[in-house]
Amino acid sequence: MKNIAVIGAGTMGNGIAHVFAMNGYKVSLLDISQESLDKAISTIDKNLQRMLDKEKISTQDKDNSLANITTYTSLPDGVKDCDLVIEAATENIDLKLKIFQQLDEHTSDHCILATNTSSISITKIAAATNRPDKVIGMHFMNPVPIMKLVEVIRGYQTSDEVTTTIMNLSKDISKIPVEVNDYPGFVANRILMPMINEAIYTLHEGVAGVQEIDTVMKLGMAHPMGPLQLADFIGLDVCLAILEVLQDGFGLPKYAPCPLLVNMVTAKKLGRKTGEGFYIYEKGSKGMKVAGAFV
Ligand code: NAD
Repeated sequence: MKNIAVIGAGTMGNGIAHVFAMNGYKVSLLDISQESLDKAISTIDKNLQRMLDKEKISTQDKDNSLANITTYTSLPDGVKDCDLVIEAATENIDLKLKIFQQLDEHTSDHCILATNTSSISITKIAAATNRPDKVIGMHFMNPVPIMKLVEVIRGYQTSDEVTTTIMNLSKDISKIPVEVNDYPGFVANRILMPMINEAIYTLHEGVAGVQEIDTVMKLGMAHPMGPLQLADFIGLDVCLAILEVLQDGFGLPKYAPCPLLVNMVTAKKLGRKTGEGFYIYEKGSKGMKVAGAFV
């Protein structure tokens, strides 16, 4: 494998492009928004510079990495000669099905089509193509250049050969892949989201406050971040959407989103990205300040 395309240059797409480019792959980075592409290149540049400052890479490494990335604003540009495409566009099922139909049409027969989806069925995405054996999930974690895990998700028809190729490729870019099967939430979110939901229920029922809940989980379970802080980091709308996928997929009340989470999403208190969730995020403020609603 030499040529990789990444579809979507947002939070995850720029990180995925960064990691592959740094490991010597030629990367086509595609996004419908020129602004997203410009922002992605400047983020990659900044992140590489940080590594250079820490003497983890040389100036030559940084220049080579940036030179490995070419940006495009529409399909089929940039995917024709690819061995692997990783889709990291907005989490929307209709959008992803359309992208995979187009990729199936415009990539060569040997090309593996991967998705970074957090919650959509790999089997469903694969069914939009004529090569379901070559469709697979590559679920990177945020921030991609730092987090070691890649959850490699086998769809119902993903072949052994394609799974082995993706497991080996993940190791080649210094990640640690874990193979899992395609069921709602895969493994990471099936375990993480009910924990976050339970933390929100614990707050909602007045068992303890925001900081108390996060402190118990940080100091008691050695989690680097409490569940409410993590929910703010992920985005409360994203947490709600994944819980809904678990609830729909399994039909079990244990996945029902806490009404407080639903209320906060309706009120657009989505966490860090909107400046307020369980905590308040103000530029220049030191320490974690609990949002007014929970003081
Ligand atoms: P994001 O909103 O930061 O970026 C999405 C990008 O996709 C945007 O730049 C948008 O312009 C682009 N896009 C939309 N339609 C497109 C199209 N037709 N062709 C090309 N580009 C298009 O989203 P994100 O957080 O990077 O998430 C991307 C994917 O990664 C989602 O499937 C999400 O579930 C998954 N994911 C996200 C995280 C996370 O923590 N953010 C973690 C793991 C997986």
